[in-house]
Amino acid sequence: MTDVIHTRAQLASSIAAAPGEIAVVMTMGALHEGHRQLMRTARQRSAFVIVTVFVNPLQFGPTEDFEKYPRSLEADVEACRAEGVALVFAPGRDDIYPGGAPSITMNAGPLGELLEGASRPGHFAGMLTVVQKLLMLTRADVAYFGEKDFQQLALIRRMARDLELGVEIVGVPTVREPDGLALSSRNRYLSPDERRSALALSQALREGATHTDADTVLASARKILADEPGVRVDYLALTSPDLGTPPDSGPARLLVAARVGGTRLIDNVTLTLAKAA
Ligand code: AMP
Repeated sequence: MTDVIHTRAQLASSIAAAPGEIAVVMTMGALHEGHRQLMRTARQRSAFVIVTVFVNPLQFGPTEDFEKYPRSLEADVEACRAEGVALVFAPGRDDIYPGGAPSITMNAGPLGELLEGASRPGHFAGMLTVVQKLLMLTRADVAYFGEKDFQQLALIRRMARDLELGVEIVGVPTVREPDGLALSSRNRYLSPDERRSALALSQALREGATHTDADTVLASARKILADEPGVRVDYLALTSPDLGTPPDSGPARLLVAARVGGTRLIDNVTLTLAKAA
C-alpha cells in the first residue's frame, strides 16, 4: 500500500506510525529508472521508504527551467507503487516554505563554488536548504542520492558530517540508457537530433576513463566533445573522488556539463589514474 500525501501534518502522522527505520528518496518527480533504482536500493534495506516529489524553486536560477520542469505526479505515484514505496510526499510550495522563501539558508561552502556551483549561482544553497528541511520533516534515518549528481551527493555528505545531522547518506551508481546516455528527467526536452548529440557526453567520459594519465584522459574526452557540433561544453573536469585536485595515481572522477540545444546535461564517471612507468 502506497499512501500519497501533500501536507506536513499528514507527513507527521504517517511517520509517527512508521515501523522501524525511515528511508527517504528525494526527487523532483518525472520519475525514471534512475529514481526507481534509488527506491529499489532503499527497499532492499528498509521496509518504510518515503519518496518526496517537490520541484524546489529555491534551487533554480532566474533563467532556468523551473516553470517548464516536467510534472507528472500520477505516473510518479504509479512508479512508487510498483517499487513498494510506503509513502509519497508531494507537498505544495507553501508546505515547504510557509511564509515564503526562508531567510536562513544553507551555505554550500567552497565545494559549492566549483563546477556546477560556478555555472549555477545559488543552486547548491537552495538544494541543501530543501534537503535539510526534508530530512527534518521526514525524520529520515537514511537517505539515498544518485551519483549522477555527483557534486550534489558530495555536498550532502559533507553537510551531514559538518552539521552532525545524524542521517546516513547512501550514494547509488548512475543508471544509463543501453547506449550510455545517463537517465535524466531533462532528457525529455531533447529532440531526436539532440538526443544523438547528447551521447557525446557519456562517450567522452567512457573514452577518457580508458586512459590512466591525466592529460590523455582529458584530451581524449575533449576530442570527442569537440567533434560533436551539437554540444557546447560548460566544463570537463578531472578531480579526486571528493572533487579536489586529481591524484597522480589511484581513484579519480571525470565530470562533464554541456548544453545540447537548450538543455543543460551533466554526467560523470569513476576512473583510475596511474603514474607513467
Ligand atoms: P532529481 O529528480 O533529478 O532531482 O533526482 C532525484 C534523485 O535521483 C537524485 O539523488 C539524483 O541524483 C537521482 N538520479 C537522477 N538521475 C539518476 C540516474 N540516471 N541514476 C541514478 N540516480 C539518478
